[in-house]
Amino acid sequence: MNRKTKWFSLSAVIIALIAVMLVSAFPHQQIATAGIDNGYTGKQAKYVFFFIGDGMGMPQVNAAEIFKGTLESDNKMHKGKLGFTVFPHQGMQTTHSNNTFITESAAAGTALATGQKTNNDILGMDATKTVKLKTMAELAKEKGMKVGIVSNVSIDHATPGAFYAHEPTRKNYYEIGLALANSGFNYFAGGGLLAPTGPKQDKPSVFDLAKNNGYKVVNTQEEFNNLSNQDSKVFAIAPKLAAEAAMPYDIDRGSGQVTLADFTKKGIDLLDNSQGFFMMVEGGKIDWSSHANDAATTVRDILAFDDAINEALKFYAKHPNETLIIVTGDHETGGMTIGFAGTEYETFFSKINKQDLSFEEFDKKIKTYRETVGAQYANLNDWLPILANEFGLTDITDYDKTRLNDALAASMVEPKKRTKDPNSSLLYGNYEPFSVTVTHILNQKAGIGWTTYAHTGVAIPVYAQGIGSELFQGYYDNTDIAKKIMNIMGVKQ
Ligand SMILES: [Zn+2]
Repeated sequence: MNRKTKWFSLSAVIIALIAVMLVSAFPHQQIATAGIDNGYTGKQAKYVFFFIGDGMGMPQVNAAEIFKGTLESDNKMHKGKLGFTVFPHQGMQTTHSNNTFITESAAAGTALATGQKTNNDILGMDATKTVKLKTMAELAKEKGMKVGIVSNVSIDHATPGAFYAHEPTRKNYYEIGLALANSGFNYFAGGGLLAPTGPKQDKPSVFDLAKNNGYKVVNTQEEFNNLSNQDSKVFAIAPKLAAEAAMPYDIDRGSGQVTLADFTKKGIDLLDNSQGFFMMVEGGKIDWSSHANDAATTVRDILAFDDAINEALKFYAKHPNETLIIVTGDHETGGMTIGFAGTEYETFFSKINKQDLSFEEFDKKIKTYRETVGAQYANLNDWLPILANEFGLTDITDYDKTRLNDALAASMVEPKKRTKDPNSSLLYGNYEPFSVTVTHILNQKAGIGWTTYAHTGVAIPVYAQGIGSELFQGYYDNTDIAKKIMNIMGVKQ
């Protein structure tokens, strides 16, 4: 041991001794940090925006920042800033459900909307499936505020549904639709409904019931443009929908199509009134593209989500002392990370900028190829120009070719005839094998890794700006977010 290290170990012992003395002298101060204080005595927020990026964990946010920096500058080390990552108050939330450390969106949405834990798959009810839990949106309505629910996935999906429905399973889409029609909320917007006439398509249409309850249901650009503050109950559906009644991924959005930001801006126009409003906006497809391990589609959907948040910031600039904006995720999806074994300390985000369609659109090309060319004549050489054009993938190694050939062969089997073996579920999950292999290879070359096709149990960042936002500093549970918002809004369960 040289003199320097000897000195260091001596100081370490002294510091440890001082720490032990301090802890024994003030034992209660340690315990005090364990409880979370959600109490609020300040001025109530009149306008509340709650933005939830489904599946949006720290890696997704961070990747979107690096990606934005790449778009803004050729300088590899330029990190872009998102509208919400510069919010003055930030914290972290744990997301576990009542029964698992890795939650799904119904339990997480219920926690965020009601402040209560429940089991996975249950929507707006307790774990026994007997008690309906009041949501902050329902409480805001009772208080006289106007209420808006916006999402780019179907409006009967788990996250938006958690704010107005109470069902033992999130899959009760028809019943969730009925709850929407009977909610009395002022604005539903974005995606459509998954089962508007029930699973057997034999029930009265939720759209008709909503109209009977005074909702103006619109699904064209012209009708959307003509909506005004005089329309007190609106269900606005995007004119063009993709799979599962969701809006298209932003990477696939044609010019002129309505965006999540457009729906948010319109919501502000419609909801603005002297009693205030509560609006929940979900970026729902960040989750879906993360499930599919498609980084380019994910970061572009986060940028579109950030555009929606910027609409709230414009409103905030006019009402800074009455507005609260919260941005968070409900859980992380995909086990995304920045850093891959093959790229070590380097990242090459400009590579994912070359991708110009989502995995979902690429899947369609594979389906057409399977139906027209088929397994017998399938050849990777047919695909190499497409991979170069649509994904910028030109530096394909022999190892990549092996993976691509295996995946192409797997994709040439009809989805219904595919046998589930452990290898294929590890390699491809439930996704189109060729598609997910292409995004894996591209993402890995960019320095992005994925560990799962499901969710993960890591803590999630929370960003807050405006009246009461200081309450969101620190490390707490997802249920605390709801309690804080309800206290700042001045509503009680
Ligand atoms: Zn998910």
